[in-house]
Amino acid sequence: MSDSDLKKFIHQLPKAELHIHLEGAIAPGTVLELARRHRMQDTLPAQNEADLQKWFTFTDFDHFVGIYVTIQNLLRTPEDFALIAYRLGEDMARQNIRYREATFTPYTHVDYQDKGLTIEDVLDGLEQGRKQAKAEFGVEIRWTFDIYRNLSFLINEDGSYHPDPAEKTLEYAIAGMDRGVVGLGIGGNEVGAPSSAFKETFVKAKLAGLLSVPHAGETMGPESVWGAVLDLQADRIGHGVRSAEDPALLDYLKEHHITLEVNPTSNLRLHIYPDIESHPFKTLADYGIPVTINSDDPPLFNTTLSAEYALLADAFLYSREDLARFARNAFLAAGAEPEVKGKLLADFDREAAALL
Ligand SMILES: [Zn+2]
Repeated sequence: MSDSDLKKFIHQLPKAELHIHLEGAIAPGTVLELARRHRMQDTLPAQNEADLQKWFTFTDFDHFVGIYVTIQNLLRTPEDFALIAYRLGEDMARQNIRYREATFTPYTHVDYQDKGLTIEDVLDGLEQGRKQAKAEFGVEIRWTFDIYRNLSFLINEDGSYHPDPAEKTLEYAIAGMDRGVVGLGIGGNEVGAPSSAFKETFVKAKLAGLLSVPHAGETMGPESVWGAVLDLQADRIGHGVRSAEDPALLDYLKEHHITLEVNPTSNLRLHIYPDIESHPFKTLADYGIPVTINSDDPPLFNTTLSAEYALLADAFLYSREDLARFARNAFLAAGAEPEVKGKLLADFDREAAALL
């Protein structure tokens, strides 16, 4: 395939994305708009899109977290959440992404940052934006609410486990099940915040009908993925790429059909792998693990979902059939209601067949 044929095919292929952070998907233009809305421009280091994009450029993890916190602080009203949900859908239409499950961390906004927001404010805002995106662009958005694991060990002064961040996130996720919440996730640094502490919360989540979608096997090795599957009953793993280091784990993932949400550019920026050729995507796919392609925090990593497909196709010489298989994996592992999922899959099969 020539370069332009490949790009055209990737664009036309109906896509689903299972791993993208709502706050990490906000484009520089929207960040500026939110800052102006709240007269908080002085919290930003730049006042135009080009300079903000430069500030976004990944340098190290602390810089990344700093940007994240700055953006979270600009989200202050239900209308702000409606705007970012709508823009998430607008971007889906631009890239021909039919279904997106975005991760969002409600505890930060409702409990940790003192903004006077209730969970109902947040849920209603998100729902308004989600509905508007569906009406205008026909795209399906669902949410997974995620626990910032380190916070559970920071609240108590002695560094012991505090149940609030996890239990409240679960409570919020259950409250949002009638407004598109389909899963419970967990993220942050696994060092000093083991999965075993969160076991009970995830048991309750699964009983309530939520998917378990923890981050694991990114900065830490296979042992963190074992924790995610054994302690947290993971249905899918965010990243999970370092499972490639443990054959017994690969067998387990394959046997239990646990889907990996792979984010290649994110892994390169965070120096998990030095270059795309060293990335285990192909090893995992060839082993028979259901792998999906995702963009994580696209503006912060200067990428798009389509660019992630192109990067892998280029590095591993994937055919159209291969790319369609990876796209289909994402529809298959989606947490949407059966009738929505069935329709998305039927549309995918029909349209992909016409493209191959
Ligand atoms: Zn992530």
